[in-house]
Amino acid sequence: MTESGAPLSPADKTLLEEVLAGKTRAVARMMSRAEAGGEEDRRLLAELYRHTGRAHMVGLTGVPGSGKSTLAGAIARACRRKGLTIGIVAVDPSSPYSGGAILGDRIRMTGLTGDDGVFIRSMATGGVLGGLARASQDMMDILDAAGFDVVLVETVGVGQDEVDIMRAAHTVIVLSAPGLGDDIQAIKAGVLEIADIHAVSKGDRADAGQTAAQLKSMLNLNRTAKGNSTWRVPVLVTSATTGDGIEQLITVIGEHKDHLEQSGEMAERRKQILKFRIVKNMEDIISTRVVSEHPGMLTTMIGRVLDRKTDPHGAALDLLDALAKD
Ligand code: GDP
Repeated sequence: MTESGAPLSPADKTLLEEVLAGKTRAVARMMSRAEAGGEEDRRLLAELYRHTGRAHMVGLTGVPGSGKSTLAGAIARACRRKGLTIGIVAVDPSSPYSGGAILGDRIRMTGLTGDDGVFIRSMATGGVLGGLARASQDMMDILDAAGFDVVLVETVGVGQDEVDIMRAAHTVIVLSAPGLGDDIQAIKAGVLEIADIHAVSKGDRADAGQTAAQLKSMLNLNRTAKGNSTWRVPVLVTSATTGDGIEQLITVIGEHKDHLEQSGEMAERRKQILKFRIVKNMEDIISTRVVSEHPGMLTTMIGRVLDRKTDPHGAALDLLDALAKD
């Protein structure tokens, strides 16, 4: 039974069972249902949520060209060598192609195709109803419930959308390519505080060491990890091409999880993630209801604000009142 009391249809019950058994095709179908976002789809997701909470959620972000897709492939292969299964959600907010599989398509699949222990899903802005952060978190839930040990969420850039997506992760890796030089300060300023691990990509290049040194000195200046965490943010040099540093990165990802669990910070982080998710869902629900279901009310309010009969804040409060009575 779901919270609303309505039971799942027999077909949805079967789908849920198949997802929980880790069947790849069922996982893909459940993801499409999550993207559709209808009432029955939400009921199904609500039921699925009861089976989440086991996976290690890892975020990977960095500017385009920093080597995220290549590194994601290398991380997946390294996980598999350790006997860990991995699900990847690749989010491409800047992609102009609706529903396109841009970032995920570039994940280097060498050695991964045909392996049921790896699942990759791409998302682009156009293919998703509501906020990308909310939608990517649904995908992560599905992979978690399907039993993947590690769920990696990968996204470009450092804008607010990307930061929001990273907020669902237990461990965030910020990837920097060598040779960013003076730009590094500006680029990193926005994401410095979200990194649990800094990785420098393309470690086979001569200037990788210099970039790592720059990052380390920035971290020393800005020693405020996340909140009151006692975790010391490391800077690792990796090369997806030669494989150098990849095993160490996987080890450090595991160490960060152990640190969160042993220090008690994991419980706090889970609460922060849920606080964020609930608020994001609320924003999504309200804007969907106003914009799609009650466009007339919104138009009326716009007119009232234009005529200076009320102000934008007052109009928002009036709309919320009207929605509550609806
Ligand atoms: P993304 O846009 O961040 O996903 O970056 P990609 O993974 O597509 O990589 C961007 C470019 O960097 C590609 O041409 C890759 O071949 C190259 N690249 C990625 N990893 C490495 C590496 O470890 N060493 C070198 N030399 N090049 C790399």
